[in-house]
Amino acid sequence: MSVQLYAFTCGFVTIPRAFMLDGEDGVITVPIPSYLIIHPKGRVLFDTGLHDAIQEDSLAHVGENLARYHAFQFHPGEEVGARLAAIEVAAEGVDIVINSHLHFDHCGGNAQLPNADILIQRREVEHARVVKNTHGYLLGDWDTGQRLRQVEGEHDVFGDGAVVCLPTYGHTPGHQSLRVRTELGGEFVLCGDACYLRESLEKLRLPGIIADKEAALAVFRRLREMQARGSTIMFGHDPDFWTTIPQAPVRLG
Ligand SMILES: [Zn+2]
Repeated sequence: MSVQLYAFTCGFVTIPRAFMLDGEDGVITVPIPSYLIIHPKGRVLFDTGLHDAIQEDSLAHVGENLARYHAFQFHPGEEVGARLAAIEVAAEGVDIVINSHLHFDHCGGNAQLPNADILIQRREVEHARVVKNTHGYLLGDWDTGQRLRQVEGEHDVFGDGAVVCLPTYGHTPGHQSLRVRTELGGEFVLCGDACYLRESLEKLRLPGIIADKEAALAVFRRLREMQARGSTIMFGHDPDFWTTIPQAPVRLG
């Protein structure tokens, strides 16, 4: 079965470097990725980037607490729906959105996929309901009315091993990554925020903001094992790494 994988950049955000690498000074501008997987049994998006309202008035959308630490470079045409349209994929035709977690830079575009089921770890949904509009969560971004498919732990989306959710708890209580097997490019691990930067994995450097350090380090070790076995690790927000990644309509895998 042929599985196609495409990468999109849905804007950039400038944040304190310490968010990415504990103890560092200054700021870093990072890409906001989204991925399309076309499987014979369905179209899947992994993460949906920012809400398009941020293009108009970011402060009004994210609120003062987030606006203080986030400067957005996000323009019309860069939201996930437009990225799909640019490669002639209808947003209405996306069957499943898989969110790595429910921070606002990963699920803000969910509303643009009206017919998709939202596939997410149950514990992430439970956590997001508790914290509401704090700690990087915006209830209005993810609670957008589509059917929620809440899973627990590893989950094989199509039952053939091609697209598999991997629990990578640590960044948030219910974070997940996605393993995608393609003929063209082999196996990819779409990290989400389980691993921000190449340097994070090379030097086992944790970010400054994290729910569970020990769990996050255990995830780093699992990612290293997968990398050693030949998987391509798709770091979550690495600006240098990202310049090497072909963007849709060029296939990544
Ligand atoms: Zn993120």
